[in-house]
Amino acid sequence: MRWLGGRGSGNIEDRRGLGPVAAGGVGAGGIVLALIGYFVFGIDPSTTLSVVGGGAPQQEQQAGFRGQPTDEAGKFVDVVATSVDDVWTQVFRQQGQTYRPPAAVVLYDQATGTGCGLGQSAMGPFYCPQDQKVYLDLSFWRELETRFGAQGEAARAYVIAHEIGHHVQNLLGSSDRARRMGARGAESGSVRLELQADCYAGVWVAHAPQVSGGQVALDPKDVEDGLRAAAAVGDDTLQRQTTGRVAPDSFTHGSSAQRMRWFRTGVTTGDPAACDTFGSDQL
Ligand SMILES: [Zn+2]
Repeated sequence: MRWLGGRGSGNIEDRRGLGPVAAGGVGAGGIVLALIGYFVFGIDPSTTLSVVGGGAPQQEQQAGFRGQPTDEAGKFVDVVATSVDDVWTQVFRQQGQTYRPPAAVVLYDQATGTGCGLGQSAMGPFYCPQDQKVYLDLSFWRELETRFGAQGEAARAYVIAHEIGHHVQNLLGSSDRARRMGARGAESGSVRLELQADCYAGVWVAHAPQVSGGQVALDPKDVEDGLRAAAAVGDDTLQRQTTGRVAPDSFTHGSSAQRMRWFRTGVTTGDPAACDTFGSDQL
């Protein structure tokens, strides 16, 4: 995958190394309490945390370093996220609309406060519609490296494009549409939402070289790597594995075959209109 010469806009909030205390604005005790509340009582961690943390909105708690990261892993996220934003800026403009990038892509480790409650490594990457930020835990990155080896870069890029795809859905109102369709079942709103985010990731792949002046590009082999990543995080594959890992963002994504099909649709058409998983009878 080509990315080293790509532009980084620095829309990154780097909370790595701050630890859950500084990043979340609550003590370790608060996080333990929140987790106990979650596992034992089924209470949303954000509820418990707001009590422990004195009720302050979590998005106003201590922020990390904003700007362009200097390490390679951070730079990679910056360049890919900027490329994804640039593609959507162009796509929106062509439709007479204005794209607003996510409020930030947050890099963290262990746990961090978010507008959607406590973000934890075990949740994997996710997008929070409340604060419009993408949250990436870089230990999940290391796991992708371990699982995919040298192919990790394309897999990581795919994950970033998928999560920003959720932001696009938030801007376009697809998230509300999914909620109205219900959250359970193989053809539920949430599965359609996830498959559309996969397709949107493909749309980014299709336009990235042209929008970046050739600085950011995935060749066909990279695309296959991205597809394998999609396959590896499909519900059916995940359910076959008994790693003990909890990844809520992956529970309702659809099967590996469905994810690959929609990602490929985005790559081959480059057209967001082709990503209408909501209007499709066959997922
Ligand atoms: Zn998702």
